[in-house]
Amino acid sequence: MSLRAAVVVTGTEVLTGIISDANGPWVSQKLRELGATVAQVSVVGDRRDDLRAVLEFLAAQQVDLIVTSGGLGPTADDLTAEVVADFTGRNMALDEALEQRIWTILERLSRGMRGVDEQAMRAGNRKQAIIPEGADILEPVGTAPGLVVQSTQPGRPTVIVLPGPPRELQPMWREALNTEAVRSVLARAEPLERRFMRLFGIPEAELARSLRELEGTGISFDGLEVTTCLRRGEIEIATLFRLQAAETYRSFAAALAARHGDVLFSPDGKTVDDKVAELLSDRSIATAESCTGGMLAARLTDRPGSSAYVFGGLVVYANEAKIALAGVPPELLADHGAVSVQVAGALADAARTRFDAAVGVGITGVAGPGGGSENKPVGTVCLSAALEGRRIDRTVRLPGERAMIRERSTTVAMHMVRRLLEGHDDVPGR
Ligand code: ATP
Ligand code: MG
Repeated sequence: MSLRAAVVVTGTEVLTGIISDANGPWVSQKLRELGATVAQVSVVGDRRDDLRAVLEFLAAQQVDLIVTSGGLGPTADDLTAEVVADFTGRNMALDEALEQRIWTILERLSRGMRGVDEQAMRAGNRKQAIIPEGADILEPVGTAPGLVVQSTQPGRPTVIVLPGPPRELQPMWREALNTEAVRSVLARAEPLERRFMRLFGIPEAELARSLRELEGTGISFDGLEVTTCLRRGEIEIATLFRLQAAETYRSFAAALAARHGDVLFSPDGKTVDDKVAELLSDRSIATAESCTGGMLAARLTDRPGSSAYVFGGLVVYANEAKIALAGVPPELLADHGAVSVQVAGALADAARTRFDAAVGVGITGVAGPGGGSENKPVGTVCLSAALEGRRIDRTVRLPGERAMIRERSTTVAMHMVRRLLEGHDDVPGR
């Protein structure tokens, strides 16, 4: 049996793009992990009729479980509980014990605040404690209680009602899963396996062609839901399947590895950051960065325990800084230009020697508009990764705007370090 679910994100500020939705993707992913098929994620403003219309639409689509976010606050535009009560055929009623629990929270929050209007607070408090009769209450993390509401009519969806702020929604979601009402719906879901593979150095179109060809050669994709997406300059293949298709996945993964072994750096879903950390084992690393302004060092240090092996990084943007702080010879800059493999190599060496690190990485490039020349347009980045006696140098042309070029540069650098530590002297692919 399968379970169909949907997410309804409410809030005019999300609808109009003032804030971007964090809850839809988060809940959708959680639902999928539990084996539900997510039919859709919709966004509606704080309008009663629009919210009601989406709920009715989803009921007509045979959705079993709806999760809403937002609209549980004390103000008049917070109307989710009321609309859901109507939708599930329940009356709204004051829960006095809940009112008291919310009041305790409000009192604590307002302690020490001046000019608090107690009457307004009482009114808001009361509004938040008026809930659909018979609903399960999810205790507030902020001030708004969440709800699990079953329909009075059989065959209609169960609704999990959660507040908008993500730091409230997420813990309350976990609480919702413990209610009997949600458990009984989720029991209908079949658990799904989700596996990742990652590739670097192959264009997405080429991989897509390859996947089509694999299907042509009789490799079965039956029971596999394969999606590919570009992330940080790598291709991620995510595959969802039910347990009985595990063997199919194994042969699919093996066929892909046979075809693209050189660029398939992660058959098991590990990130390049994981790989680099593993490969370094007890060796140390340091960076000297120009156009990335320390982003590679930030990426390397963004994991627990990294202070044991990431010694640090120089940010040397101006030529004077490259000379004074990284000891880049002025002649090198004059002869080859700041964006050159020679200077990248000198930066990598500087990172090793200045920090006394085993591995050094140098990055210099043209990331921003206004820079660059005919030979070295925006997106040209020179990188070097070095360890005792061996190095990999590379010049790449990266697409996009400054932010994308800088981020992709760090990905290229990570792969160069990975290949260097694996004992190679190049990075395959394009
Ligand atoms: P509150 O009691 O805070 O009013 P609420 O359940 O009524 O809770 P909303 O009024 O819809 O929630 O949203 C409150 C705030 O939570 C928003 O201003 C926004 O900062 C954040 N928020 C709401 N929905 C989302 C969302 N989908 N993604 C990210 N942040 C959100
Ligand atoms: Mg609100």
